Amino acid sequence: MTSALHQFDKVAAQFQTDQPWTKLANWVDFDLLGNEAAKQFSAFERLGKDHLMGIRMLNGAGRPNVMYGLRSGRPEVMDIVQPGKAIGFVPAGAAHHLTQDYGWWHVNDADEIYIPVPLTNGVLAFVILEATFARRWDKFQWYCLECYTFLHERRVHTGRVGMAGYWEAEAGAVAEFNADPERRTCPTCKTVHPLAYSFWEPGKEDLW
Ligand SMILES: [Zn+2]
Repeated sequence: MTSALHQFDKVAAQFQTDQPWTKLANWVDFDLLGNEAAKQFSAFERLGKDHLMGIRMLNGAGRPNVMYGLRSGRPEVMDIVQPGKAIGFVPAGAAHHLTQDYGWWHVNDADEIYIPVPLTNGVLAFVILEATFARRWDKFQWYCLECYTFLHERRVHTGRVGMAGYWEAEAGAVAEFNADPERRTCPTCKTVHPLAYSFWEPGKEDLW
């Protein structure tokens, strides 16, 4: 056995340990867009050694999510789903918010890459890929919805605590923001920000 092959076997074995949802170690064998994977990756999971992947199945019947960026300090629509035409890219450090999906602005230490994959059954698989690494932090932020003054943020060292810690921090950030009306009141224009909501809040309505 060559050392290179041995190396591969070691990595493959580790991969199987890390990803119990599949016993397959070869990328091309994954049914990455099948039901199991879609479920597993619906809220981001580590993929292999140093990536995170998220998969959303879009069929046009869901809520009209709109992605906003803050490129010039004011929200701008980012057209992130253009199947057959473009791959979406949100560079590290760029605040972005997906309406009716999560009630905060996300700032990622890693680039996010969005790949729309039209499936043969008519469903659009929306694949989100990003790196994860020991020094990675994420931020949950809020800005005044009237004048976009910065209101509040909470940071999480995702590279240390992993996705479980990330979601724990998200819940904490939402609770913290919602608990204090002063925190939600804009110091510039006095507008009160609507309540934040978690990615995991199933009953969320009246969303911004
Ligand atoms: Zn304001």
